[in-house]
Amino acid sequence: MIQFEEALRIVLANVRRTGTEDVALADAAGRVLAMDVASDLDFPPFDKSSMDGFACRAGDLGQSLHVVETLPAGVVPTRAIGPGQCARIMTGAQVPGGADTVFMIEQSETLPDGSVRFTGTTTRPNLCRQAEDVRSGDRVLPAGTRLDPRHLAVLASVGVARPQVAVRPRVAILSTGDELVEPWVLPGPSQIRNSNGWQLAAQVADAGAVPTYLGIARDDMDDLGCRFREAAASSDVVLLSGGVSMGDFDRVPDVLKDEGIRLLFDQVAMKPGKPTTFGVRACAGAASGPPELAVFGLPGNPVSTYVVFEALVRPFLAAMMGHEFHPRWALAPLAKDVRRRSLDRDEWLPVLLGTDGGAEPIDYHGSADFVALSRADGLTRVPAGTAFLAAGTSVRVRLLP
Ligand code: AMP
Ligand code: MG
Repeated sequence: MIQFEEALRIVLANVRRTGTEDVALADAAGRVLAMDVASDLDFPPFDKSSMDGFACRAGDLGQSLHVVETLPAGVVPTRAIGPGQCARIMTGAQVPGGADTVFMIEQSETLPDGSVRFTGTTTRPNLCRQAEDVRSGDRVLPAGTRLDPRHLAVLASVGVARPQVAVRPRVAILSTGDELVEPWVLPGPSQIRNSNGWQLAAQVADAGAVPTYLGIARDDMDDLGCRFREAAASSDVVLLSGGVSMGDFDRVPDVLKDEGIRLLFDQVAMKPGKPTTFGVRACAGAASGPPELAVFGLPGNPVSTYVVFEALVRPFLAAMMGHEFHPRWALAPLAKDVRRRSLDRDEWLPVLLGTDGGAEPIDYHGSADFVALSRADGLTRVPAGTAFLAAGTSVRVRLLP
């Protein structure tokens, strides 16, 4: 049995990077940027008014001002502002030369002769200087960024209409278990519905990879082998759930070995998730280098499957695309005592974040309790050996995506 950090290290040491492709901006959200992006412009590109008002010289605020022109956004000023002059200006318009201040329309008064007067006592300049945010040529996004809506705004602004992104890994998903039926079937005696396949497919998509759900394999070597070959044939990663524990019918590790997968670990000191298995198949003819195929044998219980995906598979898929995944964390006081009996492994405990900011371990009947998990906001990791944590103890909560 290896520690979780060691398992994560092994997994990340066996990443094969995917290639790159160009996509339209409309398809870029959720993709991982494969290029450094520099700005082709200053931002702001010109001295810009941040208010609707009048652009003038600060020293002239005490006198009435002659309005020389009106400047909507998108219009280039035709003249500089001289002493005793101002331009009527809109938010986002270019500030004319000579002006160093924009006073708000709300703090102005138009006099009978058409001139305007500042009616406030003080004002800020209310303008943004050219290049105060970004200089032309500055790097605005590094390669490896997982693009979210804010990054699309940056790409659009610097003129990158077809960003280069990492190709998404193809991930085949196979559920194993003779007891499983699909969600649209009423389970017979001793059967249960397959939840892992659907949960995993959604997790894979959320991680930015392409899931292919391949159904349920039976717990026999032939069916498993045959379904595994099908899964491996057209994918970069295979996720199996179930069949990795100590039971008589847990045949996944043997099947993987038969299929030429080199197992790199088969037990991790985490709860849930102990029987997690990971293996790789080398590229044909290559003694070293990144593997052609990576295989995760995830424990069958839905909470274990979920947690192990988040802990190991999500960072792995991110790394295949050149993205370093970092979970988000919150620091929160425990809302109630935590007592533990088995202390040999770190426990990843599902918690609910209350409106008061407290972290409440959910009432949880173990790793089959997928309904309890569905209410959790995060996971807190209780170290091996810790039998008791008092309410109020500050814990780190890894927020679920
Ligand atoms: P196993 O590791 O195959 O022994 O499975 C552990 C537990 O998880 C058993 O109670 C299984 O019935 C359950 N299980 C396995 N696969 C799934 C699945 N795809 N969906 C829901 N429960 C599962
Ligand atoms: Mg099973």
